Amino acid sequence: MIENTPPRQLPVCLPPHSDELLSSWISRHAAFYAVPPLVMLRHCLPEASALRATDLQLSSDQEIRLANMFATEPAVVRRMAFTNVAQSSRRLIAARPTQICTSCSPAYTEPAPILRSQLLGWRITCPLCGSQLLDAVGRELPCPFRQYCAAALHGERLLDDEAERDIRTWASPSEIARLLLMRRMTWPPPREENLWRFRVLGAIVPDLDHVIAEQQENLPTPAKPILPLQLRPALLAGVAIVERAGPEMLRMLRGHMMGDNRVRFTDAAENIIARAHRSNVSSQMHLI
Ligand SMILES: [Zn+2]
Repeated sequence: MIENTPPRQLPVCLPPHSDELLSSWISRHAAFYAVPPLVMLRHCLPEASALRATDLQLSSDQEIRLANMFATEPAVVRRMAFTNVAQSSRRLIAARPTQICTSCSPAYTEPAPILRSQLLGWRITCPLCGSQLLDAVGRELPCPFRQYCAAALHGERLLDDEAERDIRTWASPSEIARLLLMRRMTWPPPREENLWRFRVLGAIVPDLDHVIAEQQENLPTPAKPILPLQLRPALLAGVAIVERAGPEMLRMLRGHMMGDNRVRFTDAAENIIARAHRSNVSSQMHLI
């Protein structure tokens, strides 16, 4: 069986860059050996379906086999993938790089390594050096939400703690982000062609409606809540504001919804609040 044959160590192994994504490292080896990336991956993991899948799902046996082939430790391979990212945060991982830190991304190698942080849809700063991230092609686009900077950085930290360290406060920040992207109703009701503009987030970040109208930039849906980098601080600040205000703010936001959307929002919000209550009770039990 091919699956049971441990792959031999490659004669030449390229050192990974700090924070490099696993698929990027495999692709750079593929370029070095002049084979397609999937061929390089299947040389080690014959059962692998795609490079992207390997970034997201990696068994400990696969980590060991990759580590053997690339002459490193399984823990190093694990840190390069997203296997540690909490399930609730997975929808915030982009399929392609959406941002870059020009200080930390080595531009001198070909193909250029892709860093793990380039796909994280909750980041506005580089996890390596703390600099502000630039868009995918290295431009600094003007951010219309500068006044929310401190709250946005707090929101980034909350989402990062949940995704990378499985740490939550009273609620899941990624669940809050999802709720904030649902559509809301305004009074008087907007014309049908303008309904898309109004999100729950606009009820707590009032500049948002105006910015969306001006830029004609539709926000993504709650299913894939990755905002363009220059608009992302609004969502991060919204998460931080709700987290700080507590469950009552979620109940208050319900007043901005109508019909089926209101039912969906209420169900999701009450679920979050019930979970917060349960974990509060269980932490108090631990103290007794
Ligand atoms: Zn950096």
